[in-house]
Amino acid sequence: MIYVGFEIDRLDVVIYLLPEHLQVIYTHAVSIYPEECCGILLGEISSSGKKTLQVITTENVWIPENTGDFGKERRYAIAPQAMLQIQKQARDESLNIIGIFHSHPDYPAIPSECDRAQAWQEYSYIIVSVNKGKVIDVKSWCLDENYQFQAEEIAIVEDEYSTFR
Ligand SMILES: [Zn+2]
Repeated sequence: MIYVGFEIDRLDVVIYLLPEHLQVIYTHAVSIYPEECCGILLGEISSSGKKTLQVITTENVWIPENTGDFGKERRYAIAPQAMLQIQKQARDESLNIIGIFHSHPDYPAIPSECDRAQAWQEYSYIIVSVNKGKVIDVKSWCLDENYQFQAEEIAIVEDEYSTFR
């Protein structure tokens, strides 16, 4: 297993992904560059952490409300309809929505105040930094009880979760 980004200290703040999940996220981030991409992670939550089982890419439907607002190169939004449809799909497959990913074109993989303001407490927020069209960093974040983002370990599982219960 390969850990990315941070030193592991607490097992309850780990999100597990297979290499192909990261590949879907990276490919989507690069293809949507220089705009922000987004998508949803489906999986299971257990005592050993959050296990990603499916990555679904979604359209960035962000529309600036005022002139002068940032555009899609600095903001993202997932359509409520898409969210509902994916929630239904998750239910049908007995999975949970465990997180949301988006990209930061030419910007570090650190959440913005806007990311924090629209975040849900139970989800992981994976941010991919894309620099000049290439993925250079990935980090995962989760809100704490004070609604502040704390870094979360990303564990890339090379053996198809065979070691999981
Ligand atoms: Zn962001």
